[in-house]
Amino acid sequence: MDRTQELINWDKQYIWHPFTQMQDWVENDQLVIERGEGNYLFDTEGNKYLDGVSSLWVTVHGHNKKEINQAIKEQLDKIAHSTLLGLANVPSIKLAKKLVEISPPGLNKVFFSDNGSTAVEVALKIAFQYWQSRRSDEVGSRDPDFSPAAKTSGQKFKTKFLTLVNAYHGDTIGSVSVGGIDLFHKMYKPLLFKAFKAPSPYCYRCPEKCEKGSEPCLRHLENIIKKHHQGIAAMIVEPMVQAAAGMLVMPKGYLKAVRRLCTKYNILLICDEVATGFGRTGKMFACEREGISPDIMCVAKGLTGGYLPVAATLTTDEIYNAFIGKHKEKKTFYHGHTYTGNPLGCAAALASLEVFKKDNVLKKMKALTNYLSKGLKQFRNLKRVGDIRQCGMMVGIELVKDKNTKEEFPSSARIGHKIILEARRRGVILRPLGDVIILMPPLSITIKEIKMLLEVTFASIKKVTA
Ligand SMILES: *Cc1c(COP(=O)(O)O)cnc(C)c1O
Repeated sequence: MDRTQELINWDKQYIWHPFTQMQDWVENDQLVIERGEGNYLFDTEGNKYLDGVSSLWVTVHGHNKKEINQAIKEQLDKIAHSTLLGLANVPSIKLAKKLVEISPPGLNKVFFSDNGSTAVEVALKIAFQYWQSRRSDEVGSRDPDFSPAAKTSGQKFKTKFLTLVNAYHGDTIGSVSVGGIDLFHKMYKPLLFKAFKAPSPYCYRCPEKCEKGSEPCLRHLENIIKKHHQGIAAMIVEPMVQAAAGMLVMPKGYLKAVRRLCTKYNILLICDEVATGFGRTGKMFACEREGISPDIMCVAKGLTGGYLPVAATLTTDEIYNAFIGKHKEKKTFYHGHTYTGNPLGCAAALASLEVFKKDNVLKKMKALTNYLSKGLKQFRNLKRVGDIRQCGMMVGIELVKDKNTKEEFPSSARIGHKIILEARRRGVILRPLGDVIILMPPLSITIKEIKMLLEVTFASIKKVTA
């Protein structure tokens, strides 16, 4: 038997793939990726594919990037791993300093973990504990959230979270609790803590059927906040783009309004930049597009350039200080993942941030994303394209059965899946979200490669939906 076939057989025998119906998987042909070079992936047969989704939204400067490889090799010759529990290590110190320098103003402390879901878990627990600690310090203070009325009502102060419909913050139980995608999250409801859900800012999907524009959704949001703010510890949002929901782009001004409401009602704002961070929206962080600073920020996916699993949760001094006290006060944040601050991963992240500077990545992106926008216009002529959404290098092309009524295809038709298989035959790797075709190439993609990405996607949609 040839080598590829043997590997595929073993894969089907031993591996349970994520977000995958394994019955489909074992019944179909599969690719085994062996190496990467720049913006391309190569399978075990030597076939070459453009990586149209950055290996699930992580690759930033392309695969096999010389500078990042080099940094990892140099670190490897020193030490691969050492713990942050009771010890410090060189790359994590340098990376934390760097992250504070480049993140929105006010975020001054870095708590490391190892993936997006854990970065969110950390954010939720920090927000919760922050208010617990403030409560014991300050009950009866001038803070309106500690009013005697609330105290005597027996309501627990600020223990709940506010999230948005269509939100995705990861797959662990805490992050699923603040998730808002029924298909992924509903099943686990008995396991989850309660979170308030405000309508998605993307009005086309708004469950309350508001008219277009951001105002109505803000009204609903403010109503929830007005009513419940004494019980809400934090609001969590994906800034600018609800990515996993199909690249739902927030209307201009929405994020800024969220910041204003959170400040007004004394609710912490957690921005989950796991998908949007590190240049994906055209700025280093999506928060910069609205000029806001969250109280807590989560980063992961692109942090290491897409090389290794490192994540971080950044907070303000004010939050950090609420955890400071004598040992016996038990204000410590009792949380930590074994591979926290992994030196190899941090070295990769430092090198990736260096490449941003050296290659002038963010400046060069404008021309690339403009070209992408222009190229996407022609997709409107396709009969089954219901919507096209773009924010920087993040694109969602939504397919519908009927353009006028926005009637969807039955999910059994698996239109999105069929389109990406067609694209694969034409040399492009994509991964859809239901019937939304996602384009999210590495920031290192060239104009020529964007042209190919668009041509292949266009032809694949046309063929499958004909
Ligand atoms: C992918 C993602 C996560 C989860 O990250 P993992 O590393 O897969 O755990 C969390 N939040 C957002 C916005 C994401 O896109």
